Amino acid sequence: MGGRRADDLFCKARITWRGAILLGKKVACDAHEPSRPVRVITHAHDDHTRELSRSIKECSWVIMTEATRDLLSVLRRRDIRRLPNVLGLKYNSPFKLGEETLTLFKARHIIGSAQVLVEDEEGSRLLYTGDFKFPGTPVIEADVLVMEATYGRPGQVREFEHEVEERLVELVRSGLREGPVLIFGYHGKLQEVMQILADGGVWAPFIMPRRIYEVTRVCERYGMIVGDYMPEDSSEARELMARGEPYVAFYHSSGYSKVRGPKAAMRITISGWELSRPVREVGKREFIVGLSDHADFKGLLAYVEECKPKLVITDNYRMGSGAILAEEIRKRLGLPAFPMPSRSPIKRDLAEWL
Ligand SMILES: [Zn+2]
Repeated sequence: MGGRRADDLFCKARITWRGAILLGKKVACDAHEPSRPVRVITHAHDDHTRELSRSIKECSWVIMTEATRDLLSVLRRRDIRRLPNVLGLKYNSPFKLGEETLTLFKARHIIGSAQVLVEDEEGSRLLYTGDFKFPGTPVIEADVLVMEATYGRPGQVREFEHEVEERLVELVRSGLREGPVLIFGYHGKLQEVMQILADGGVWAPFIMPRRIYEVTRVCERYGMIVGDYMPEDSSEARELMARGEPYVAFYHSSGYSKVRGPKAAMRITISGWELSRPVREVGKREFIVGLSDHADFKGLLAYVEECKPKLVITDNYRMGSGAILAEEIRKRLGLPAFPMPSRSPIKRDLAEWL
C-alpha cells in the first residue's frame, strides 16, 4: 500500500459530469451512472438523490442507510422500503460486491447521512465523505479521498459556531414572548433545530406541515429528541393557533415568501451561508441564524489532514468551491488535490505535481 502513487490511484475514483462519484469498478454515489450496477445514496437531500427511480429500475443494488431509505419514502411519496434491490445498510457493516467491499460510516449532516468506503481487490481504500460537518464526523483513513466542498473558500469560516445554538434558543424564547415564531430551513436541519430547542427547554409546541411532520417522525424513530410536535392540519394545532397561544412553526425554506403567519410572528431563516455572525437582524422581527450542517473551510482542511490520503478529489459539481478548495489543499497540506469534474486537463496537472 505504502508505495502506491497518486497516478496509480487516479483511475480508481472520479466525479462525472452528471455528478456521480465513482468509486472502484462498480459503485456510483449520489447520481445515476448507466455503466455502474450499484448506486449509493449518501443522504436524502435533493442534489444527492437525482434519478433515483432510474437507478431503482436499472441497478442491481441501490444502497443507503435505513434512515435515508425511510426519509426518501416520505419525501418522494413512494414507499421504497420493500423493493428487492433497495438495501438499507447499517453503519460499519461491510457489504461484499464481488472483489470489492463497500462500507457506510456515519456522517454528521442530517439523519441517515453516510460516508462511503470502497476497498478494492488491490487493497486501495476509496472514500467519499458525502456532505458532512466537522468536527462531529468520524474520520475514515483512505488512499483516495473524495470530498464535498460547499464551504471550500478560505474566508468561509464560522468563528461563532460554539455559541450559535445558545443564541438560537435565546432568540426563539424572546420571540415567543410576543407571539408565534416561524422557522424556515431545509429537511433535516429543521429537525436539528427542533432538537436544539427541545434541549434548550423551549416549552411551546412545534407545528408543521404534514410532510415536515412525517420527516420529523422518521428522525424521531432514529433517535432524535424533537420535542412536542404536531401537524398543522390537526385539530389540536388549529385550536392552539386560533387561541393565539405561542407556538413554533417549521417550514421548508422554499415556502419563505408564501407563508406569512400572524402579524406578531417572528421569522427566522436558518442558513449556513450566514458567516459573519450567529444571529443577524434583516428586518422587523426577521432574522437569519448561521447554523450549518456542513464543515466550514477549516473543518474541511482538518478532515483531510486526519484522513491522510495520497490523493484528494473535491466535488466541483454541486454548489460550492471545489477548484479553490483543491488549490488550498495543495498549497497548505502539500497533497495532490484536484476538482472534478473539471475542464482543465487534470492528468497533465497531476503529472506536473508528481
Ligand atoms: Zn446535504
